[in-house]
Amino acid sequence: MKNLKVLVLSLFCLLLASWAYADNVFTEDLSLNPPLDTLAVDSEGDELEEMDDLDARAAQLPECLAGLFAHDTLILGCDMELLPNKIIVRTKDGDVVYKLAPQFMFGDSTLFTHHPADSLYRHIWTDERVNPYGNLFDSLREDVHIPMAGFVLPAPGYVTSPFGWRRYRMHKGTDIKVQIGDSIRSAWSGQVRIVGWDPRGYGYYVVLRHDNGLETIYGHLSRPLVDEYERVPAGYVIGLGGNTGRSTGSHLHLEIRYLGEAVNPANVIDFTTGKLKNDQEYVIGIKAMKQARAEQAAMKYHKVKSGDTLSGIAKRYGTTVRKLCQLNKIKETKVLQIGQKIRVR
Ligand SMILES: [Zn+2]
Repeated sequence: MKNLKVLVLSLFCLLLASWAYADNVFTEDLSLNPPLDTLAVDSEGDELEEMDDLDARAAQLPECLAGLFAHDTLILGCDMELLPNKIIVRTKDGDVVYKLAPQFMFGDSTLFTHHPADSLYRHIWTDERVNPYGNLFDSLREDVHIPMAGFVLPAPGYVTSPFGWRRYRMHKGTDIKVQIGDSIRSAWSGQVRIVGWDPRGYGYYVVLRHDNGLETIYGHLSRPLVDEYERVPAGYVIGLGGNTGRSTGSHLHLEIRYLGEAVNPANVIDFTTGKLKNDQEYVIGIKAMKQARAEQAAMKYHKVKSGDTLSGIAKRYGTTVRKLCQLNKIKETKVLQIGQKIRVR
């Protein structure tokens, strides 16, 4: 409770410090843009003690906001990602207290705008990680139907490398041939979540959250042309094709994700025609995806040592030479190299 008081106190210091600049905020006509949540505060002024009169229960807050309250105190020191879109506290004399506070605390009112598919993503919105969603995907039990309307092909080009398992790592996207400087377009309407630089991976990349609940990632760009938080229509040029990051030859690395989980873009888009496989909806088969992931997790490799033979390795791991050859796409006569990794499961 002491911590909460400190938080509220520091908020109020900020508030008071910014009082002189507050006029433009207070004169905003709220009737034109009614707040989502309005709390009644029994307060005559801006004294700290008065804040304890804030009645959270009476405000009938949505579930996502309820955790921000302890007793009758609003916690503003919580994770920025968990902050609500809008939270407005009106004092009895008509002042709007908290609408002002978060803006001044974080210096960016866009944090309090509505992001695409916000409730689906539990209000998690950050530019720090491509997949900040923890086990949200794992908590799904039923297949998901995603509306596909409004799709625009990000780049017309042939596939140079498909989605799927590459020797020792998962390739979570589809690589499409583009030239440096080619326009890369937003697949659906949405909002820019990340404009990033990852020298050993994506290079320059853009992550979009779409209104249909999908997220797309565009990697190896020569130049991103959008800003974080920017809203983009479908087909908007979000960057230029390139060869940055871990890339040999200019191409677009395109990922499609749902709650952080990568889906195979070739299941969604027919890259030979540039059209959707189903222009109405895409069904994410949760059971099949979880099964595929379990199989990936079960994969096992053996590092070849001096004297190893295929039959010896097969015996050791309780499998057959034939199975090993299938798994590794090699012939039974293949000469093993020391240090080479052989998939055994
Ligand atoms: Zn790639």
